[in-house]
Amino acid sequence: MELNIALLKGDGIGPEIVDSAVEVLYKIGEKFGHKFNFTPYLIGGCAIDATGEPLPKETVVGCLASDSVLLGAVGGPKWDTLPGNMRPEKALLGIRAAMELYTNLRPAKLYPALKGDSPLRPDIVDNGFDIMIVRELTGGIYFGDRGYREGKYGEEAYDTECYSRMEIERIARAAFEAAQKRNKNVISIDKANVLESSRLWRKTVHEIAAEYPDVTCTDMLVDNAAMQLVKNPSQFDVIVTSNMFGDILSDEASQITGSIGMLASASLGATKRGLYEPIHGSAPDIAGKNLANPIATVLSAAMMLKYSFGLMDEAQCIEDAVDAVLEDGIRTADIAHGVDAIGTKEITAEILKRI
Ligand code: NAD
Repeated sequence: MELNIALLKGDGIGPEIVDSAVEVLYKIGEKFGHKFNFTPYLIGGCAIDATGEPLPKETVVGCLASDSVLLGAVGGPKWDTLPGNMRPEKALLGIRAAMELYTNLRPAKLYPALKGDSPLRPDIVDNGFDIMIVRELTGGIYFGDRGYREGKYGEEAYDTECYSRMEIERIARAAFEAAQKRNKNVISIDKANVLESSRLWRKTVHEIAAEYPDVTCTDMLVDNAAMQLVKNPSQFDVIVTSNMFGDILSDEASQITGSIGMLASASLGATKRGLYEPIHGSAPDIAGKNLANPIATVLSAAMMLKYSFGLMDEAQCIEDAVDAVLEDGIRTADIAHGVDAIGTKEITAEILKRI
């Protein structure tokens, strides 16, 4: 296959970690006979410095013309005093909107080799866990009708949770398709005992479930889900949920892995083109020092192979190489805990050796 990938390196550690992922993709191309063409575009603080705006038009056009997009991170103290709509982070919302991405995939995986990093008790995380949270990204209460009005007790403010059948159907399909690539188990999380929108959510998810007889589908109330994530995280394979519940639960799930430098993410829309990025920020405190852990970005590249290009063996090869590096006790400083740590470039070389 020949594929065109737009690179948005961004700020801080962004360039270092994206460079690592590019090296890994080149190696995969060599091994499996694919050609990856990379075109860099500006985003975030570096784009403000060069063009005066965080998301130049050229970047949007380039991303829309690509087969998929790999992003590092944006932001840093240099741009912190700019007004809200000129901040580097504004570019993230802008590019997600321009690419019409409504599905957010957030894996939270605790590797057995890193179980000491989890804040959970050893007996709970003994076998690690591997959860994929599928969060609806463009609907629900964050986008619903809102405002101020005079109420029973005087001034009041309101926000509205609203989901259409269409929005639920498409996110449910994304979840069942993700589950087909994993352990074929979906837990749909809602608050159907209280919310009307959750009742439509539940009903619609089950209608779509009937199209995927190879995947099991059960429901869980969000308050129970918040408890189950810390009590028994290994029961989850794929979680599908609304924008707000997904926002909260995906942060909870990332925290119980304990290692921010390891977690990838993907945002997808109706086409195969996606936006793949680590969940962490630009880590200005360690930028340019060869200290960043590139694994979250390398695993984001693996997700791109899997979800945008359907290259399952190639993605697995990257995941196996990362597993092998960790099993061999090779660590960057953020996950070293007393063991000797190596740098960004060196751990990238170790991953390459195992591909
Ligand atoms: P951060 O995620 O950048 O850093 C938090 C801590 O984790 C820091 O100590 C950092 O050194 C460490 N860390 C993060 N990624 C790491 C990695 N790959 N390897 C090793 N250590 C790592 O969060 P922050 O400090 O709150 O934010 C810094 C900047 O990043 C801010 O400008 C913020 O707005 C921006 N940010 C951007 C994104 C994004 O681009 N998607 C997300 C979050 C924050």
